Amino acid sequence: MNHYRHHPQLALPINPHHFCATKNRRYEFLKAPAIYLGKTLASDGIAMLLSPIDNKYPILQPPENYAVSFKKNTYSYFEEIEATQLAPAPKITLPATDDCRVCSTTGKALCSPCPECDGDSKIEFETAHNSYSCDCKSCYGNGQIGTQIGGDHDCTHCHGTGQAYPKYHRVEINGIKIAAHYLALIAGAPDLQTTASEDKKKLIFKTGDQSGMIMAMKH
Ligand SMILES: [Zn+2]
Ligand SMILES: [Zn+2]
Repeated sequence: MNHYRHHPQLALPINPHHFCATKNRRYEFLKAPAIYLGKTLASDGIAMLLSPIDNKYPILQPPENYAVSFKKNTYSYFEEIEATQLAPAPKITLPATDDCRVCSTTGKALCSPCPECDGDSKIEFETAHNSYSCDCKSCYGNGQIGTQIGGDHDCTHCHGTGQAYPKYHRVEINGIKIAAHYLALIAGAPDLQTTASEDKKKLIFKTGDQSGMIMAMKH
């Protein structure tokens, strides 16, 4: 079975837009690729893709109150990615996909952060005895909603394919667990090289002149 059939856009180069922050309002400044510290940076705070500078993208403008820590953290990730020794990726088997509920499988939708959970995918509430967290029912836990189905915009949840990976599905690679929907973004890349970081908290990858990392799932 060809697990990549819903992802024809995975041909090199990896599309930086697929690594961008489309849900979380805190990362509004990362909603499109941008030039930063000598690279084209695309990140949603969980995964990061570094590509050579492409001048069609703007210079990144982190919010002022956050710029110093953002630069420090990002620079240390850049250094770690650069310094890590990689090996050819093991065979990656992705789970079957589900119908995308953000665009109703059309692949086309104008997407915005879910107003109910503010993009968090979860609703938290407290009673006198305890606090609870559950998947947001307004967005089915996707963190975003399609405000206009159809039209010209690729759905940012399924990247225009109409199919999405089940939310809690993770795949083991290099001894750590990665969310399937992130792994799918790199799985088809040619000459893919990967390794787990020393602290086992991230998967580091390289393909051609692109590189990056994906945070591991805790359990
Ligand atoms: Zn979709
Ligand atoms: Zn929601």
